[in-house]
Amino acid sequence: MLLSATLVVALTACSGAGAEQGPNDPNAQTNARSGDQGEALSGERAGERATAQADDPRPLVLTTFTVLADIARNVAGEHLRVESITTPGAEIHGYEPTPGDLRRASGADLIVDNGMHLEAWFEQFVADLDAPHRVATTGIDAIEIASGEAAGTQNPHAWMSPLAAQRYVDNLVEAFAELDPEHAADYRANGEAYKAELRAVHEELVTAVEELPESQRVLVTCEGAFSYLARDAGLEERYLWAVNAERQATPRRVAAAIDAVREQRVPAVFCESTVSDAPMQRVVESTDAVFGGTLYVDSLSAADGPVPTYLELIRHDADVIATALTGASEGEKE
Ligand SMILES: [Zn+2]
Repeated sequence: MLLSATLVVALTACSGAGAEQGPNDPNAQTNARSGDQGEALSGERAGERATAQADDPRPLVLTTFTVLADIARNVAGEHLRVESITTPGAEIHGYEPTPGDLRRASGADLIVDNGMHLEAWFEQFVADLDAPHRVATTGIDAIEIASGEAAGTQNPHAWMSPLAAQRYVDNLVEAFAELDPEHAADYRANGEAYKAELRAVHEELVTAVEELPESQRVLVTCEGAFSYLARDAGLEERYLWAVNAERQATPRRVAAAIDAVREQRVPAVFCESTVSDAPMQRVVESTDAVFGGTLYVDSLSAADGPVPTYLELIRHDADVIATALTGASEGEKE
């Protein structure tokens, strides 16, 4: 008993070194289960979990990715424990859940996914779980993917429209009120307050793009993840591949992007934080465009990074896009 306690102390000390760990880190969950001051050091996983639940009696809501977790936290307020299965920076489309993810999920009171085939792994993940799950995008009018292997299917990145994200909020309010009826009024109030912030950030986005000359309102990215944002903001969207699930920057697609950038004299192109920007750098090398910066879509950054929240993600992307497309940085290129 003493030996196992010592071992767990050692393990906790190692994994606990990252004091910066956000709530989205699976290790953070392990640490939480281990207790703060050794109370839960009895070793057995079940015992740890029981102690963690005793420490935090709030229902556990698990979401599939960090953006959704942040939106959900804004609705949940203090009443629910909201965590993300994937960590900041993770690739969400083709993620491979770990046995640890399944263990966490088996203890969840509610699991929320984005749906629209964003999480290719989700159906199998929840197949053997008892916890109820809800789809955050229910009721949203999907934009269809225009090209590639997934042509004709729903583009899953609906959260990139702050206006559509209001429907995420409504769905979460409903799900949380069902899970925890006692606090239903708080969830509704939190949801309304957050939706006002979403409308405000939408206005900021539209205003930023409106300041661009009309001919420069072209957004060229790696993944076609900006269809909703481009629609809202009045941008023309081009991309190297439609969804990360295929992620094929074929020579033909790169060549097509190079042609388009040249023809439309696009001043800057972009790529997303969760994928390699190497194919887009080839576009930069072959055109007058500069690399305009890294955009965030499928994941938030770590807490000390540029986009620790969803609202900051939209603000960051709007700012990077508008700044680079003004052509102000054109002179930097040889
Ligand atoms: Zn994506």
